[in-house]
Amino acid sequence: MINKSNKDNKLSFLTEKQINDFWNKVNISLKNECWEWTGHLYHNGYGQKRYKLGKKTYTFKVNRLSYYFEHGKIPQGLLICHHCDNKKCCNPSHLYAGTVKQNTRDYIERGTNKINMKIANEIRESAKLGLSIKDISKKYNINTCSISQILRNISWKNYNFTPITKRKITFELASKIRLDYITNDVSQKNLAQKYNFSRATICNIINNKVHNE
Ligand SMILES: [Zn+2]
Repeated sequence: MINKSNKDNKLSFLTEKQINDFWNKVNISLKNECWEWTGHLYHNGYGQKRYKLGKKTYTFKVNRLSYYFEHGKIPQGLLICHHCDNKKCCNPSHLYAGTVKQNTRDYIERGTNKINMKIANEIRESAKLGLSIKDISKKYNINTCSISQILRNISWKNYNFTPITKRKITFELASKIRLDYITNDVSQKNLAQKYNFSRATICNIINNKVHNE
């Protein structure tokens, strides 16, 4: 097996055309957004790019390539990690060089080892139904920061999803709260806790000042 830094050394032989081939496969969007790789993927979801260098063909992780093209080198022995938890992302500003230990620790602290696209979409649905970030965090045992990143469509970016920046009270949610109050006899105080709204907001919902349609 070829040692990573030996393989990285081969990158200095890339031609301009080969480098352009890379960027042509990246969906370059806004400065802060994820720039997703549109080419081949490894089975684990990371992007891969093959380069023929001399007589041999080498396969590289695209996040490593992006980091290399931005900084001109990859610190020896380090992994190129994503701040954004978006495996396809090639935005250099979302990448950092870290140790295996650092990466694993970050991963566990964020709780991101539990998230996949399906769960991210479920989390987005939960938020649309009015669940607070705190509640979603408890439900999935994923920290609030990671939940927030998903709702802002930063990690697990879904191009069809409109980021949720501010919590809205939907008609469905208001109806649900009213039903809880009337049918299940939940107190306003408990409703405020349960749905993570202020007492005043709950009061307005119950008194049909919000979403009485
Ligand atoms: Zn990203």
